[in-house]
Amino acid sequence: MAGMRFEDIIGQERAIATLRSTLREGRIPNAYLFEGPWGVGKTTAALALAAALVCRTGGDAACGTCEACLRAARFMHPDIRFLFPVMSDEDDPESIAATLAEVANDPHHVFTYEKAASIRIGLTRDLLRELAYRPYEGRRRVIVLRDADRMREDQYSAMLKSLEEPGASTLWVLTTARPQRLPATIRSRCLRVRFSPLAEDVVEGYLRERAGMPAAPARLLAALASGSLSRALSMRGENVAGLRDDALRQLGAANSGDPARILAAAGEAAAWSNREKMRRTLEFQFLLLRDLLRLRHGAPEESLVNRDRVADLRKVAPSVDVSEIRRRTALLEEVVRAIDANVTPEAAFFSAYARWAKTLPQDAVTRAAAWPGWARAPIGS
Ligand SMILES: [Zn+2]
Repeated sequence: MAGMRFEDIIGQERAIATLRSTLREGRIPNAYLFEGPWGVGKTTAALALAAALVCRTGGDAACGTCEACLRAARFMHPDIRFLFPVMSDEDDPESIAATLAEVANDPHHVFTYEKAASIRIGLTRDLLRELAYRPYEGRRRVIVLRDADRMREDQYSAMLKSLEEPGASTLWVLTTARPQRLPATIRSRCLRVRFSPLAEDVVEGYLRERAGMPAAPARLLAALASGSLSRALSMRGENVAGLRDDALRQLGAANSGDPARILAAAGEAAAWSNREKMRRTLEFQFLLLRDLLRLRHGAPEESLVNRDRVADLRKVAPSVDVSEIRRRTALLEEVVRAIDANVTPEAAFFSAYARWAKTLPQDAVTRAAAWPGWARAPIGS
């Protein structure tokens, strides 16, 4: 395991070029702020930067093989600290060490934690005590703070003191998907580096070439990922092809305009009792509409998510114009909102599917959707 290297980061050429040039020129600031959406490589880049700074070769990237790089890869280098949000019951050295071991062993590790998780004060206090000393080995110590917006006010003030210290030997590397939540005093003292959402083909390429995934599920996952590699990786154990097929089958019922089939489809969706599954089904339905739009604009087949269904798509595409695609998108958006607002999913799906093909009288659909007899089964998470 060679640890985190700049080569492991995909689709962030500009950010990485910036980091390498500051390393080459030796113009390292006191603090960096890596900002951008979840799961696009900010933490990997921060750890790769930390490794480059302790690497014995002293170049603009970690060599990955020297003794310092090897220790950095196992989170055993005394001049590198990596802090990330935890729940209060995980705030002990053993469970933190266990997480670090997972990250060190699995280059595809995806961090997930509860909403309430935060960077803990105890850790930070110890850290600030440590900062009073010189680094152990090199000229600089590096502190990587993942999701640095999850900290308390007093922690920020303590950090600010370190940032303002002249001739500081500590480099702070903060990552965040929500820069506006960081105090302006911290933000203004950081060199900001922006990380962008990843292009679908970049995610797809990574899943195929580095995560060893077959082409078809890699394409579907990349399409669902909304530009986030972590999002794609977190779903890699799921049967995405089955999910996609369910989504298209549901739309088949909607396309038929047959009330009995529509009712059955809505019932089936509601019976999943899993909000996440419902959301992903809807995402595949949005992607189908996107494919139709692309076909109408003469986009090449390789740009379609459902390119294995291109014959079916070509049959439908001529009959749905842009305004019809917009109308259907709005119908699906209604279902997303209804599910988020805990409305009975059966009624929400029925209402959207019944208006999908415009074959049923609208007032009947509205009356049916408002019918109090819809199953009131609670939705799981
Ligand atoms: Zn090295």
